[in-house]
Amino acid sequence: MSEITTTIDTIFTLQMPYCENLDIRRTVFQGGDGPRVAVVAGIHGDELEGLYVCHRLAAWLERYTSEVPGALRGRVELYPALNTLGLDTLTRSLPVFDTDLNRNFPGSPGGDVPHRISNGIMESLAGAELVIDIHASNIFLREIPQVRINQDFAGHLVPLAEKLNLDLIWLHGAVTVLESTIAHSLNSRGVPCLVVEMGVGMRVTPEYCEQLVIGILTVWKELGVIAPEIPLPPLVHHPLIADDSNVHFLNAQTSGMFIPSTAHWTDVHKGELLGTIVSPHHGQILSQVRSPVDGVLFTLREYPIVYEGSLMARIMAKKPRRK
Ligand SMILES: [Zn+2]
Repeated sequence: MSEITTTIDTIFTLQMPYCENLDIRRTVFQGGDGPRVAVVAGIHGDELEGLYVCHRLAAWLERYTSEVPGALRGRVELYPALNTLGLDTLTRSLPVFDTDLNRNFPGSPGGDVPHRISNGIMESLAGAELVIDIHASNIFLREIPQVRINQDFAGHLVPLAEKLNLDLIWLHGAVTVLESTIAHSLNSRGVPCLVVEMGVGMRVTPEYCEQLVIGILTVWKELGVIAPEIPLPPLVHHPLIADDSNVHFLNAQTSGMFIPSTAHWTDVHKGELLGTIVSPHHGQILSQVRSPVDGVLFTLREYPIVYEGSLMARIMAKKPRRK
């Protein structure tokens, strides 16, 4: 029976101008010589859901690897904080450089700091069988647990995503693909990477995290990372499939305060009132927000202040739109 080792190691270090170091660390659970998988989180410094998922996965692994010899057949790497500077300073982007770290991939070893960090992360994840990149929307929008997949990689990734115990798979067309993300860079280099979006920025939604943990463990078991005899709860969430043809964006007609009147993640009907936009200066309603279709409300504004054009909601139509 293989011995389990758990280590926290530093995969990237950069000396700062004064006495500090920027260190990116991972926790490694090494079981047998089975497949190697990874979870990455915190690439945006205001997104915390993935950090809690890493904690819950670590708790599960610590328990099972101590109680059940041989439970871990492969190797699990948890990277809870890719943008350490951003997380430490509650900043979405990479502080000082004022750039989105997830727009600087795949990076280069001799580039500027964002590109050096990205390159270090890419080198560390090379050869993994599966990477799960967890995002938490932003502070403005709340998302149901979902996977977002570039159509180019759908054939390989959708079957994995279907077992993640999430509620939605959103397939993005080529036009909306961001090639400078970690997910696109990894998938382009043959390292399968699934992007999970869920919850809201600066917060943790424990029930969403528990839901995803069950899905991740299920996929790891299927890949042979976890021994087949280890019991896991059954999957209770089966995703709907959305693509660019049946997702509707609701943008604010006027600036003001958006007050929702419908709960997130519910069925809505064409013409149904989803909320109102009001002004703090007077009692009038500035704008009514109504559903354009019969569908499912899967994104809902969390931060109430809106400007003209601000995104308030996304609805997945139950039937694809006819062109
Ligand atoms: Zn993000």
